Amino acid sequence: MTSPTRLTVDALSRAFGGRQVVADVSLSIEAGEVMCLLGPSGCGKSTTLRMIAGVERPDQGQIRIDGVPVFGAGPTLPPEARGVGLMFQDFALFPHLTVAGNVAFGLKGDSAAKTRRVGELLEKVNLCGFAQKHPHELSGGEQQRVALARALAPRPRVMLMDEPFSGLDNRLRDGVRDATLALLKEEGAAVLLVTHEPDEAMRMADEIALMRAGEIVQRGAPYNIYNAPVDRAAAAFFSDIN
Ligand code: ADP
Ligand code: MG
Repeated sequence: MTSPTRLTVDALSRAFGGRQVVADVSLSIEAGEVMCLLGPSGCGKSTTLRMIAGVERPDQGQIRIDGVPVFGAGPTLPPEARGVGLMFQDFALFPHLTVAGNVAFGLKGDSAAKTRRVGELLEKVNLCGFAQKHPHELSGGEQQRVALARALAPRPRVMLMDEPFSGLDNRLRDGVRDATLALLKEEGAAVLLVTHEPDEAMRMADEIALMRAGEIVQRGAPYNIYNAPVDRAAAAFFSDIN
C-alpha cells in the first residue's frame, strides 16, 4: 500500500473585508518534496501558509496531513496538533533562551532524548560551539540556522517556510539556501516555501506553484515554468532572473 500524500490542500479560500485574498487554492506535496509558492507581494502567499499552519481560519476548503483532515472535513486540529514546523522571515527566536534552549523548545519527552536531538541538529546546521550563546550574540546567518534547527527538531511532517532567507545579506543567501535545502531533504518533511523571488524558487523547488491575486495560475517543475510561462505576466515575472 502506498502511503497517503503528506500534505493535501483542497480549494482553500479566504476573504478579508469582502476582498478575496486566497481563492480556491489546491496543492499537494509528498514527503521529501519542496514546493515553492511563488508570487508578487500581496498575492496571498502568507495567508495560504498561515491557514495550513492553523493560525488563520479558512472560509472554505480542506486540509489533510498524511490523509488526516486537520481542517474542513472533521474536527479542526489546532496548530500544535498538526505536525507542522514553521519558519518566518524574522526567525522569531526567543531572545531569553540559549541556542540550545531555542532548538529544544518544541521537543517533548525525556531530557536525554531532547539533548541528543538538539546536539544532532546543532551539528547538522554547523553550530556545535554555539549551544550556550544567546540569539543577540549571533550573526543573521547563524540565527537563520538556529531557526531552521528549531523548526526541524520535533521532526515535523510538513515544514512551512515564509520568506525564510529575505532577512539575509545577498552575499550569504545562495550558500544558506543550498545548505537549508540539503538539510530539508535529509530530514524528509514535505516543504512549502513561500517566496516572491523567482531565482529562489528556481534554485530550491521540486515544483513551483505560481500565484497571482489569490489564485494559483501555473504549476510545474521550475524548468518547465521558466521555459513555458503561462502568459506574458508570468514571463515578465521571471524575466529578471539572470
Ligand atoms: P503575500 O504573503 O503574498 O505578500 P498576504 O497573504 O500577506 O500576501 O496578503 C494578501 C492580502 O491580504 C494583502 O492585500 C493583505 O493586505 C491582505 N491581508 C492579509 N492578512 C490580512 C488581515 N488579517 N486582515 C486584512 N487583510 C489582510
Ligand atoms: Mg507574505
